[in-house]
Amino acid sequence: MARSVLITGGNRGIGLAIARAFADQGDKVAVTHRGAEVPEGLLGVKCDVTDTEQVDQAFADIEAAHGPVEVLVSNAGITDDTLLMRMSEDQFTRVLDANLTGAFRVAKRASRGMLKKRWGRMIFVSSVVGLMGSAGQANYAASKAGLVGFARSMARELGSRNITSNVVAPGFVATEMTAVLSEDRKKEILAQVPIGRYADTAEIAGAVTFLASDAAAYITGAVIPVDGGLGMGH
Ligand code: NDP
Repeated sequence: MARSVLITGGNRGIGLAIARAFADQGDKVAVTHRGAEVPEGLLGVKCDVTDTEQVDQAFADIEAAHGPVEVLVSNAGITDDTLLMRMSEDQFTRVLDANLTGAFRVAKRASRGMLKKRWGRMIFVSSVVGLMGSAGQANYAASKAGLVGFARSMARELGSRNITSNVVAPGFVATEMTAVLSEDRKKEILAQVPIGRYADTAEIAGAVTFLASDAAAYITGAVIPVDGGLGMGH
C-alpha cells in the first residue's frame, strides 16, 4: 500500500535520492524545500525546519494531499566548519538548531498522526562523525550525536505504538555538502575508508527504505552505518 512519506531536505543530495527510492516503490512522497525548484513527481512543501510554524504548515499541506505522514525521514542538515577557537556561539547554535532541533520539530509534529494510526517509521540521517568526532566540526558532530540520543528516546517512548525510530549514519557521500572540502582532505578521508570510495547517494537511500519496510518492523533504536567501514565499531 502506498504510504505517505516525508523527507526533509529532499529537494537535492542524499534526501533527493531517498525521495526517489520511495517514489520508485510507489509511495506518496513529499519533500521540503526552501524556495528551490522541486524535482518532478514529488510533492514539494516549503519548509525551513528551524521554523515551527513552517513545519506545522508543511505537515498540514501533506495531510491534505497525501494523508498524515507515516514515514518521516529527517535528513535536512548543514555544516559550518571551523576549529573550536574560531567557532562563534552563533555558528554552534545555528547548526544545532537546523540539524538537531529541526529533527525534534518534525518528529514531534509527525508523532501526532503516527500515534493516532498506531503505526509509523522515523528515520534520522546522522553521520559517521557523530560518534567518531571530527576536528573542525564540533557543532556538526554534536548535532549528529544528539540525533542518536533523540532517536533512541523516541524508540522507547513510541515503540509500544508500533512506531520505530532509527538512525542511518552515512560516511563520505559525494554531494554539494562535501564538494567544499579540499582535495587533500578528500584524499585523507578516502585513505581511511576500507571500501576505498565515496558512497553513492542511492546506497544511503537503500538503508533508509529498508528501515521503513515491513522486513525492519522489529528494528528500533538502531544506528545503521553506511560508511564503507570508515567508522567501524562506532
Ligand atoms: P546537501 O547540502 O546536498 O543538502 C542538504 C539538504 O538539507 C538540502 O535539501 C537543504 O535544503 C536542506 N536543508 C538544510 N537546512 C535546512 C533547513 N533549515 N530547513 C530545511 N531544509 C534544510 O547535503 P547532503 O545531501 O550531503 O546531506 C543530507 C544529510 O546527510 C545531512 O543531514 C547531512 O548532514 C547528512 N550527511 C551527509 C554526508 C555527506 O558526505 N554528504 C555524510 C554524512 C551525513 P536547501 O536546498 O533549501 O538548501
